[in-house]
Amino acid sequence: MAVVAIVGGQWGDEGKGKIIDLLAEKAKIVARFSGGDNAGHTVVNPYGEFRLHLIPSGIFYPQVTCIIGNGVVINPAVLLQEVDDLSNHGVDTNRLFVSDRAHLIMPYHTLLDALEEERRSKGALGTTRRGIGPAFADKVARLGVRAGDLLDKDTFRNRLSVALEFKNIILTKAYQASPFSLEEMYDQYCHYGEQLAPFIRETSSMIHEAVTKGDPVLLEGAQGALLDPDFGTYPYVTSSSPLAAAGCVGAGLGPKEIDRAVGVFKAYNSRVGAGPMPTELKDEIGNFIREKAHEYGATTGRPRRCGWFDAVAGRFSVQINGLSDIALTHLDIYGGFSSIKICTAYKFDDEVLTSFPSDVAILEKCQPIYEELEGWEEPISGIRNFDKLPAAARNYMSRLEDLLSCPISLVSIGPDRRQIISVKELFS
Ligand code: GDP
Repeated sequence: MAVVAIVGGQWGDEGKGKIIDLLAEKAKIVARFSGGDNAGHTVVNPYGEFRLHLIPSGIFYPQVTCIIGNGVVINPAVLLQEVDDLSNHGVDTNRLFVSDRAHLIMPYHTLLDALEEERRSKGALGTTRRGIGPAFADKVARLGVRAGDLLDKDTFRNRLSVALEFKNIILTKAYQASPFSLEEMYDQYCHYGEQLAPFIRETSSMIHEAVTKGDPVLLEGAQGALLDPDFGTYPYVTSSSPLAAAGCVGAGLGPKEIDRAVGVFKAYNSRVGAGPMPTELKDEIGNFIREKAHEYGATTGRPRRCGWFDAVAGRFSVQINGLSDIALTHLDIYGGFSSIKICTAYKFDDEVLTSFPSDVAILEKCQPIYEELEGWEEPISGIRNFDKLPAAARNYMSRLEDLLSCPISLVSIGPDRRQIISVKELFS
């Protein structure tokens, strides 16, 4: 069997939740490996419609063990709320495990996230203000508190008092904000710890054991490649790597264990928050896509910026992820378009760029160079067979495959689990 990593190919919100929900049917383990509750997967299935921010979308299948890996940062209140919501809908959460190495989001992370965004004012990064960036920063600064610390109250108290002493200095001296009380935070998190204790354990060994047995494992990414702290549109990026390679570090596997890396791409592009997006359409076509596809953030409700498919960025994403396959979503949104554009290169001053620039100052000035393809009139959401898709839709996909040098193995033509066309089996 296989280890398959599912990652966002663009700027996030590509529909990873749906693809993972679908592939999880054949998996034994689904492990989330990066981000925090700034990610929001929407899953529509027979239990209802769910917005999962932390719990892997595989939770709906009774045979699947779900893991929140060491590469994720966890807000315990959000996690407990998700566990409650799922339980209230009859979904069993006893197969959920949380890595003892995963770092926790503390109240000072959330407050500092908001204060830092306000301080940046016009230069704000457009974070979700959920404390994700500050929690990852503390992980690297060796000031973090980990889920496993909650299992031993003395260890937890020591870690918290060291971190809080420092954070209170920043809050009071730099921001003239009120300090947090150690006792109140300690009590609150001890209470979370008691509720989370059954879920917290060493998890990389569970994944390793499954891989050794040949069980199918899904590594669930969050956000998208163009938000990677190294390769994305820095500084308008997220604070942990959304790339397939991060699936190894964030779950505890070696690189040779990943058999397939599947990049989820929308048939067009969308982006939420600040930062360059060369193909953004600030006209009625962009508005039409946003309204037809309900492009409003699952976590914040913010309207997403929409535009034509950017194949320069897409090709780059295939390269930095090492993708073996593409899952193309939202193809249904283009039904009724008489023509569709794809950005194949950028114009920068007098130059034509065919590769994705590393400098946002350059990317901001890039003008898309488009190729125009014939569209199709008919709705395609009801189609289940690749050959039944309109010729123009197949032609569009074939052109994307050429431009990205990667095959499309799954096509999604609606939000529902059944609205899918499988071109190639991904677990083999
Ligand atoms: P994720 O974070 O990558 O899982 O993406 P989100 O859940 O934030 O956003 C994807 C949205 O698109 C959700 O509302 C999905 O239900 C929906 N969706 C997923 N695939 C398709 C598709 O093929 N067509 C349409 N119309 N909607 C889709």
